[in-house]
Amino acid sequence: MQHRPLTTRPAFIDTLDQDMLIAGKRVPALSGKRFETRNPATGELLAQVAQGSEADVDLAVKAARAAFEGPWRRTKPVERQHILLRLADLAEANYEELALLDTLDLGAPYARTVLGKARAAALLRYYAGQATLIAGDTLDNSAAGDVLSHTLKEPIGVVAAINPWNGPIGMSVWKTAPVLAAGCTLVMKPAEQTPLSALRFGELCLEAGVPEGVVNIVTGLGDAGAALSAHPDVDKIAFTGSTGVGQKIIQAAAPTMKRVTVELGGKSPNIVFADADLDKAVPAAATAVFANSGQICSAGTRLFVQSSIHDEFMERLAAYTRTIRVGDPLDPETQIGPVVSGPQMDRILSYIDGAAAEGGTLLAGGERLSGESYDNGFFVAPTIFADVRDEMTIAREEVFGPVLSAFTFDTIDEAIARANATEFGLASGVWTRDLATAHRMARAIRAGSVWINCYQMLDPGVPFGGYKRSGFGRESGPHHIEDYLETKAVWIKLD
Ligand code: NDP
Repeated sequence: MQHRPLTTRPAFIDTLDQDMLIAGKRVPALSGKRFETRNPATGELLAQVAQGSEADVDLAVKAARAAFEGPWRRTKPVERQHILLRLADLAEANYEELALLDTLDLGAPYARTVLGKARAAALLRYYAGQATLIAGDTLDNSAAGDVLSHTLKEPIGVVAAINPWNGPIGMSVWKTAPVLAAGCTLVMKPAEQTPLSALRFGELCLEAGVPEGVVNIVTGLGDAGAALSAHPDVDKIAFTGSTGVGQKIIQAAAPTMKRVTVELGGKSPNIVFADADLDKAVPAAATAVFANSGQICSAGTRLFVQSSIHDEFMERLAAYTRTIRVGDPLDPETQIGPVVSGPQMDRILSYIDGAAAEGGTLLAGGERLSGESYDNGFFVAPTIFADVRDEMTIAREEVFGPVLSAFTFDTIDEAIARANATEFGLASGVWTRDLATAHRMARAIRAGSVWINCYQMLDPGVPFGGYKRSGFGRESGPHHIEDYLETKAVWIKLD
């Protein structure tokens, strides 16, 4: 299927000045300040976005608190379900526009961003179902005498969502859906590089019947996120982003005991055993790391290939990688666009230089792309280093770009030990036809997701999150909603 957008500039950004969404109104920052967001493929100015700071965050939290204490926390689950279902329909109906905003803001190919439509709608419909499943327990505590106890599940209150730039609309939907299902209210801060689709999604929330003040969007820089995570009237923070900022958020949340869940960086192993189906494993190993220009927290950045197939596998992978089309994100043939910004590109190129200096063997890429269609953007060629050693910088740190480190291994025990020898634990892949190997690896790997003979699968009904420094808490799945609820025990003396 060819995915070509109907326009190259959605009407939403005909208004160059984009305001925040607070209490149901689009408003400028109190300071009047704005920051620019530009297309990383061309440098084109997309919008001048309200630069919210501490005072704007305070207004948004007040609006969220007022909406929470107003009728919203007492809405019937079936009403919230209805709103979520309407929002799912609206997100579907407007997804081409949301996807195009992300393509312009982030640089990800439109052919990729538009495919997020099915997941966004499925997420909203899944949480619509969750809204009506919230229930406490009746507890027979005979040891305490003639007493009946039951638990009430109550919405936790005002939630702050602080989002990264690598999947803007998908992240906005993922963060908003459980909030609405649980009866909480939201102040969301999108990343400064990619604020546009969140603002459009906020408008769709209002159109779906979400009451004013239930969903607020504060655009701004890191200081707005910091103000949000320290605000005394925020009850919970849901954060996705870098491990460093995650640590700051946990510290900022501590004085007021906010509930915190953090989904952070990764250095995920993708392990190919000699009996794997190489026709599937080769392209999947490339997609696992190069999709979205490598800007995915769960990217399979450490490729372990069993020694007996190593040379053949790497040859095929390098050949496949050279066929990947990098270029204009609006061209339906493009598989990889630019990286998100100049600083991000410089960071990636310095990792590439470092890997070469430390002795990695360059099999593909290794450079910024140049030429007429590349020079105004931040394009990095998909890059593969073989002969990487576990102690090299590129083997340990999250690059967040289209750069693969490849290793060879001999035994399953060695694969387990080296796959786990990282401070991260977000995801992993295993390629084998042997059932025992698959099960053994699934149990031995210390990571929140183990994909066997596949990679990067996500589903609203399946939990996703990290071990170790990849964070804590799980998003999606039947228990996620618990993070947005308090449990209250009620005791009734019967005699
Ligand atoms: P950050 O973790 O720096 O930013 C994520 C969000 O946190 C943004 O909205 C950011 O705002 C906000 N923020 C920044 N500083 C603070 C603070 N002190 N308190 C609260 N919120 C804050 O990620 P970046 O977007 O800068 O990316 C840097 C690196 O993080 C990447 O190269 C990658 O390694 C990793 N990363 C991991 C992701 C993942 O999914 N695990 C996703 C994105 C990045 P602002 O945008 O204004 O700075």
